[in-house]
Order: sequence, then C-alpha cells, then structure tokens
Amino acid sequence: MNSEISISGAGIAGLVTAIALRKIGINCIVYEAAPEIKPLGAGLVLAANAIKAFEKIGIDKEIISKGRLLASFAILDKNGKTISRTDSEAIGKKFGTDNFTIHRARLHEALLSLIDSSRIKTGKKIISADQSDSGVTLHFADGTTAQTGYLVAADGIHSHIRKLLIPNTKERYAGYTCWRGIVEDAGLNITESTETWGPAGRFGIVPLAEGKIYWFASVNAKQNDPVLKNFEVNDLLKHFAEYHSSVKAVLQNTSESVLLLNDIIDLEPVKNYAFGKIVLIGDAAHATTPNMGQGACQAIEDAVILTDELSKTGSVENAFERFGVRRIKRTHFIVNNSWKLGKMAQSSNLVFSALRNCTLRLIPAKIKESQLKKIYDVDF
Ligand SMILES: Cc1cc2nc3c(=O)[nH]c(=O)nc-3n(C[C@H](O)[C@H](O)[C@H](O)COP(=O)(O)OP(=O)(O)OC[C@H]3O[C@@H](n4cnc5c(N)ncnc54)[C@H](O)[C@@H]3O)c2cc1C
Repeated sequence: MNSEISISGAGIAGLVTAIALRKIGINCIVYEAAPEIKPLGAGLVLAANAIKAFEKIGIDKEIISKGRLLASFAILDKNGKTISRTDSEAIGKKFGTDNFTIHRARLHEALLSLIDSSRIKTGKKIISADQSDSGVTLHFADGTTAQTGYLVAADGIHSHIRKLLIPNTKERYAGYTCWRGIVEDAGLNITESTETWGPAGRFGIVPLAEGKIYWFASVNAKQNDPVLKNFEVNDLLKHFAEYHSSVKAVLQNTSESVLLLNDIIDLEPVKNYAFGKIVLIGDAAHATTPNMGQGACQAIEDAVILTDELSKTGSVENAFERFGVRRIKRTHFIVNNSWKLGKMAQSSNLVFSALRNCTLRLIPAKIKESQLKKIYDVDF
C-alpha cells in the first residue's frame, strides 16, 4: 500500500499545503500543469485569518517580510468621499495582523523558497486519477503515469479532478469582469487601500511593498464581452473619467503590457470535498468571487486544517473526511456572502447606489465588527 501524498497544482493552496505537511514530516510531490511556475502580475490582500494560518504553520515571518501591512481600508464614492473606513490596526489588535498586501510573485517566491525544488514537477498536467485499494494512479497529459497513495487536488477553479469526481459542478459567471494591474507609486504617495464604488463600477487601489501599487477595476458586463476584451488603458481612463484623481493617476501610470483581464466566476457550492483517497482544496473545492478578499485566505486555512487532521489520525481517508466536515460550512458562508456583496457593490442603479452608500455610512462599528469576527475567527 502506497502511503505517499501527492498534490495537483502549485498555486497558493498546493504550495502552502506542501509546506504545512512537510512541517509534520509528510513529504509530498506537487504536480503542476504549467511548464514553469509563473504567478500572475497582480497583488493580493490577505486578512487576519490567513496570517493566523501562516503563524500556525510557522512561516508568518517569511511571508510578512515580503509584503506590506496597511493601517486602514476605506470605501469611497466616485468623488473620493469616504463611505466607510475600517481601522485595520484596531482590527489587528482584536483579531490578529490584518490588511496585509503582497505582490503575487513575491508570495510565490517566498513559498517556493520553503519547498525542496525536487518535490515540484512542472509540465505535469493530470488528466485522470484512478483510485484502487492500493492507491491512486495519476495519468498525465504527456502520456506518463505515476502511483501515489493519496491525492490532494489543488488544481484551481477549473479543477479537472473535481470535474471527474463531481461531473455536474457549476462555474458561475458573476456578471462583472475585472482588470488588474501593478504600477510604480512614482510620487502618488498612496498609503491606504481603497475601493471606489460608483455607477461605472468598482476601482480598487492597494499599496504594496517596494513602492508599487496594485489596482483592480470591476465593470458589469456580459461574459466574454468582445469590446471589453480589447480595452486599453485609455479606454479605462475614459470609462472611469468621472472618478476621483487617484483613479486617474493610477491608470495614467499603467503600461498596456501589465493589463490583466478576467471575467469573475465562482463555483456553486459543492456538498463534499473528500472522495476516498482524494480531497479537494482551495479554488478546486470552493472558488469564490474576490469581493471579500477571501479566496486565497481560505486556501491557506485549508492547508492548516488538512495538516491538523492528518496529524491526528493514522488514516488519511479519515483525515480527508474530517477535513471536509470542518471546511464545508465556513467556505460556503464565504462563497455565498461574497456573491451577495458583489451584487450590492456592483450596482449601477443610481438610486440604489445612493441608498446603499447612505446605509453603509450609518452602519454602527459594532455591527461591522461582528461581521468581521465571523470571517476572522478560525477554529485552529
Ligand atoms: C480578480 C481577483 C482578485 C483576487 N484577490 C484576492 C485577494 O485579494 N485575497 C484573497 O485571499 N484572494 C483573492 N483572490 C482569490 C485567489 O486568487 C484564489 O482563491 C487563489 O489564488 C486560489 O489558489 P489555488 O491554489 O486554489 O488555485 P490556483 O491559483 O488557480 O492554482 C491552481 C494551480 O493548479 C494548476 N493546475 C490546473 N490544472 C491542473 C492539472 N490538471 N494538473 C496539474 N496542475 C494543474 C494551475 O496551473 C495552477 O498553478 C482573487 C481572485 C481574483 C480572480
């Protein structure tokens, strides 16, 4: 009986899990489809729950040193007037280090530096995984096979493994598309992360370490919109012409080559993550819209919970099962609430937007805190 655990996918979920399992003496092989690991040129915001997970694994210092901690986060209207502001330092005192921003490339470099490179096999796209009493046979697109005892499927929202296990899963288009870019701060002196909500869509600005700024812009659109697909920076400047000066300044600093565009999709919640010798984690299990900034945070939590369960029992299958039980409710909560938040934040209806902004301004701090508590409180 093969007792080795393999991981499919060297994204955040796969790499953090490989590191966490190594810490309890389990050496995994990570099979990655891409010929080389090239993270997107975009930024990431990680909340207190993700940092707590890094602490639990014992890699928080390595990660935090590569990014930046921000003191606050604000939602603004199109004129730059504050709708709501969250004091991240105060939140940090209650729930742990919060509002941490990092360039995705820096995060990936940090994670890769913590893994023995011989354990990562690139150019290995898994096309099927057959379970038997003796383990799992992995079949790769290059025609080769490998035997493993168990498989942790971390192959992202379009997970091939998930589709084999649960053929009827639904990837849902959220109704908006999103551009992302990274620019040099170059005298803009932006120190707070903000989201500007207005009729043209949402525009996020997030300061990163090393004098860089990550921005994103979500606009309501039909899926695969052929016009938006060809948008250049100038088109975005026109689209957000009525927004305050920081939005324009950030766009003016953006070069065409860094522009990324993705239609926003999530995964309709599935009922089960554990399937005998295979378990789904990260976006493969519970991809969410980015509205709560929790997709990667949940993937990082997965790594901790899976490791915890594996450290408690000799039966890997039981540990996978227990992992699923512990993760379903929380990840469904995130996926469902993020979906709803997106609908509210993306509204282009002028009357609704005005009402929404007024209501948000009036929400008492206590209620905001109890909402955050649900997200930041972790069971590890
Ligand atoms: C616009 C946007 C902004 C976001 N912002 C945030 C944020 O601020 N904070 C946050 O917490 N989250 C954010 N997220 C979510 C976050 O990016 C994801 O949840 C996270 O990256 C998921 O990691 P993963 O490892 O599960 O999947 P992925 O990053 O998709 O990695 C999957 C890996 O598997 C590989 N793979 C695929 N198929 C196979 C196969 N068949 N065989 C082998 N390998 C395979 C892929 O090449 C890839 O390397 C955002 C998402 C979007 C779209």
